[in-house]
Amino acid sequence: MEAEGGKSDSRPVVPSADARDPAYFQYYAQFVHQQNMLQDTVRTSAYNAAIVGNGPTMFKDKLVMDIGAGSGILSYFACQAGAQKVYAVEASDMSKKIQKLVDNASRRNPWLKDRIEVVADKIENCNLAKVDTLISEPIGVLLVHERMIESYLVARDRFLKPGGAMIPSNGNIYLAPFTDANLWTQTMAKVRFWEQSNFYGVDFSPLAQDARDEVFGQPVVGCFDSRILLAQPVSHFVDFMTITIAELQNIVIPFTWKVPFTALIHGIAGWFDINLGGMILNTGPYAERTHWQQVRFLLKEPLAVNAFETVKGWMRLTVNMSRSYDIVAEIVTGDETPTSDPADITAEGAGDERATPVGYGKRRGAWALHEQTYVYGADLDYSKVRPEFLAMYTPENAAPPEINMDIGMGIGGIPGLVDMDLTAADLDALVGRS
Ligand code: SAH
Repeated sequence: MEAEGGKSDSRPVVPSADARDPAYFQYYAQFVHQQNMLQDTVRTSAYNAAIVGNGPTMFKDKLVMDIGAGSGILSYFACQAGAQKVYAVEASDMSKKIQKLVDNASRRNPWLKDRIEVVADKIENCNLAKVDTLISEPIGVLLVHERMIESYLVARDRFLKPGGAMIPSNGNIYLAPFTDANLWTQTMAKVRFWEQSNFYGVDFSPLAQDARDEVFGQPVVGCFDSRILLAQPVSHFVDFMTITIAELQNIVIPFTWKVPFTALIHGIAGWFDINLGGMILNTGPYAERTHWQQVRFLLKEPLAVNAFETVKGWMRLTVNMSRSYDIVAEIVTGDETPTSDPADITAEGAGDERATPVGYGKRRGAWALHEQTYVYGADLDYSKVRPEFLAMYTPENAAPPEINMDIGMGIGGIPGLVDMDLTAADLDALVGRS
C-alpha cells in the first residue's frame, strides 16, 4: 500500500487509514486511554442507559457484536441487558485484558460467564456469524476524526442481520461561527516569533506567512462558553444505518448563518451529537462536557459582520491517510458569493489562495483535523465580562435575537449587557457607579 506522505499525482479515491494502525492500536492498548473514556461519565452512562434501557428489544437473548470493544465495557453492558452472546472485537492488545476478565468470570463476574467471545483482530479481517445488534463507540473529535465509523459500517454490511439494530444509529455534526479575540490573539502570538527581522542577525519574516498557515491550520480542541457563538448552528445528519463508506470520504456541509450581532468572526466552532437507541448524547457547548470537548477552526484573519447580516459558505472534509480529514472552508458576508464550489477545491489548492483573504468579505481556511492543539479553559471569567470584551455588540433597540443565548436587553440600564447572574453591586462596579 501507499506509504503516508508518499508522492502521487492522483490521490487514491479512498485513501486507506491502515498506515497508522500500529501507532493507533498501540495507543488503545494502554489502560490510561481506556480509563479516560470509561471515566467520561457523560459518555459511559449514556451508553449504559441506552443499552440497559433497550434491553428488552435489542439485547435480551440476542446475538450482539461490539466493534472496537476496548476494555469491553459495552460488551459487559450488553450481557447485563440479557444478551445471549457478544462478540467483543478488539484489534489492540486490550483484547487480552477482556479475555482475562472473561477467564475469571466464574469467580468475579458470574453473570459474564460463557457469554463473551473475544475476537482479537480488526473487524475488517473477521469472519463471524451474523448478529441482531451492533454496539460501538467509533466516535472522534467532530464525530469523524479517527475514521473508525468506516469500520463500524464494515461490520454493518457484513455482520448485521436485515432489520438489526445499531447503537449508535446516527449522529449530527454542528457548525456555528464564533468570536473569541482572546483565542485568536493567543494563537497569533505563536506566529509572531517568525515575524522578527533580526534574530541573531537573521530576518525570519519571509517565513511568517508559512508559520501562520501552520499554526492556524491546527484545530483548537477545548470547551468554550456558548456565548461566543454568533448564530444558531447548522447541522449535518449522518445516518449510520444507511450511509456508505464512499459517502464518508468527502463530506460537504453548506451553511447560512444569520448573525444578530456586530462582531468579528474569528472562526467556525464544531461539535456533534449521537443517537444511542433513542437517547441523544450531545457534546455541544450547552451540554455537560465530555472528553471530546468541542473544536474550533480559527480564521487567519477575522471577518467582520454587521448585526443581522447573513454569512454563508461551506466546509468540506476529505479523508486523509492520518486517520482523519483535511478540511477546507469558505465563508462570505452580505451579498458576496462563495468564490468556489467545494468540489473544485483541494486542500492543497486552498493553501495557495489562503495566504491572502480571498476578497473583501470573504475568507477561506484550511485545517488538518489530526493536527489538534488544546486550550485548557479560558483566561477570561466569562461570568463577569461584558459582551464587548468578546467583540460582540448587540444592536441598539433590537428585539432579543432568536438565538440560544441569554442576551439581556438593558439590564441595569446597560443596553446589551449579557445577563450572567450579575448582582446589582457587580453591575454598579462594571459601569463605575458606587
Ligand atoms: N468500546 C470501548 C472502546 C472505544 S475506543 C468503549 O466504549 O469504552 C475504540 C476502540 O476500538 C479502541 O480500543 C480501538 O483499538 C478499537 N478499534 C478501532 N478500530 C478497530 C477495528 N477496525 N477493528 C477492531 N477494533 C478497532
